Amino acid sequence: MRPKIAAGNWKMNGTAAALAELNALGPVVPASGTTVIICPPAPLLFRAVDLAGPLNIAIGAQDCHAEPKGAFTGDISAGMIADCGASHVIVGHSERRDRYSETNANVRQKAEQAWRAGLTPIICLGESLDVREAGTTLDIIATQLSGSLPDDVTATNTVVAYEPIWAIGTGKVPTLEQIIEVHDFIRAQLTSRFGAETAQMIPLLYGGSVKADNAATIFSAENVDGALVGGASLKASDFGPIVTALAAS
Ligand code: PEP
Repeated sequence: MRPKIAAGNWKMNGTAAALAELNALGPVVPASGTTVIICPPAPLLFRAVDLAGPLNIAIGAQDCHAEPKGAFTGDISAGMIADCGASHVIVGHSERRDRYSETNANVRQKAEQAWRAGLTPIICLGESLDVREAGTTLDIIATQLSGSLPDDVTATNTVVAYEPIWAIGTGKVPTLEQIIEVHDFIRAQLTSRFGAETAQMIPLLYGGSVKADNAATIFSAENVDGALVGGASLKASDFGPIVTALAAS
C-alpha cells in the first residue's frame, strides 16, 4: 500500500499569523493512513514545526540549495531545513525551473542534498502548454524524470509530483484521462529504472488547480497517490476537504 499524501505549498504567502491555519486544519487530519504536509515560507519553518507536531501535520520547505553550505547569499541548505525540524522539501517546482533557470541536473543535486540531510524530496515534473499542444508531453516527462531523479531512489525516500505548468494557478485542470496517462507513464518509467518493487511504493502526487470540487475525481486514478496543492492550501477551509477526499479515496 502506497502512502497517501496531501501536500500544501504556500509559496511566498503568509506571515506568522497564517500559522493559525495549521490549528484549523488539525481536526481534519486523519490519525493514520494519510500524510499531510504543509510547506510554508522558510522564515516560518521553526514555528510551524512546533505547532504542527501535535497536530500530526508534517512540515516541508519549498526549495533547498544544491550545495550543503557556502557563499550563496539568501539561500538555505537542506541541512538548515532539517535543523528546523522539517521532514520534506519540494525540489524542481516549475516556478524554480522557469524563473531561476533550474536544470534537471540542479534538481537532482538538490534531491541528493535532501537525502543527506535526512529529508524526503518532493521532486516536481511537468510540461508547458507548448509541449502539451505539440504532443510531446511524455517525452519531456521522461527527460525530466531521468535527469532529475538520482540513482539512489528507494521505495521510501522520494515523492514525485506531476504538475503540468499550464494547470498551476490557472484553474485549468487536465482531463482525468490526461492525468491517468501521465501518472501511468511515470509509474512505468520508475519501474524500468528502479524495479517494480521500488516503483510500486513511490507516491505520485498530482498538482495543478486541485480544489475541493475536483479532488475526489483526481484521486480516483489508480496511480495518483495524493496532491501537491498551491492556492487551495492556504486556508484550512479549502485544504481540509481535499485532505478528507484523499482519506476517503
Ligand atoms: C503549485 O504551485 O504547486 C500548485 C499546484 O499550485 P495551484 O494548486 O495553485 O495550481
